[in-house]
Amino acid sequence: MEVTIDQNSGYCFGVEFAIQMAEDEMESGETLFCLGDIVHNDMEVKRLHAKGLRIITREDLLHLKDCKVLIRAHGEPPETYQIASQNNIELVDASCPVVLKLQNRVKNAFDVMEASEGQIVIYGQPGHAEVIGLTGQTKGKAIIIMHDEDLERIDFTKPVTLFSQTTKSTQGFYRMKAMIEERMKATQQDFQTINFNANDSICRQVSNREPQLKKFAQEQDIIIFVSSKKSSNGKALFSVCKAENEQSYFITNEEELVPDWFEGTSKVGVCGATSTPMWLMKNVADAIRLIGESCAA
Ligand code: SF4
Repeated sequence: MEVTIDQNSGYCFGVEFAIQMAEDEMESGETLFCLGDIVHNDMEVKRLHAKGLRIITREDLLHLKDCKVLIRAHGEPPETYQIASQNNIELVDASCPVVLKLQNRVKNAFDVMEASEGQIVIYGQPGHAEVIGLTGQTKGKAIIIMHDEDLERIDFTKPVTLFSQTTKSTQGFYRMKAMIEERMKATQQDFQTINFNANDSICRQVSNREPQLKKFAQEQDIIIFVSSKKSSNGKALFSVCKAENEQSYFITNEEELVPDWFEGTSKVGVCGATSTPMWLMKNVADAIRLIGESCAA
């Protein structure tokens, strides 16, 4: 049985950088707190916990003093930096550079929109850490849209600047963009595109994965997709695999492998989400090889 790990799966550079930063900080043996899960993968969180990383909530942050807190790749709103400075907390800022750049763009656009009574609209998941960080650039005034009915909260008679959470689907973003444009045209007799500025801020590290994964899934007899159930990127990419290859299975670790899946199979592909560590995919690939050897014996 041939087992191949998809080389395009696994951490994006933002998550890779945040985990490396956490590991470097923990080398001193000091406890490092992390605001929210460093990555949406329980296995990786468990591994880093053993090294001294402690996950905290926003509420916990209010009560901490004189310690080190890591900001993960998703970034944080300005409020977090204020709390840290008031409580003598040293921030280890692992915000992804792509997210920081987007926060900056949202802030600048917000200043322009405020002056023209316009609105900042973000296509994203309400409550998602990155969206909280982006909304923080607009004094909490950004309108978050995820479903069609959320469009009702936009005033189509006023200017709109649209952005996207970096991990949303490109197709979904362009669909929302088209709907907003249509509603603005219907409401404004003299609609000008100047009133509507749409910024595709989806990270290419994520959007490029889909076509690469489609190809990989087509080339294999069966697909073992490794991800945490919490990862929205994991759910989306698994459905891409399933659409291309009916024999696709979702697992969180090697203990969930079922030997019957591999009967009569010669090509097995192992892949995962942007939050799946490479070491976990390697463990899964090794376990599959062992199953293959015991079937052949
Ligand atoms: S998906 Fe893109 S923006 Fe998000 S953390 Fe990874 S590299 Fe950064």
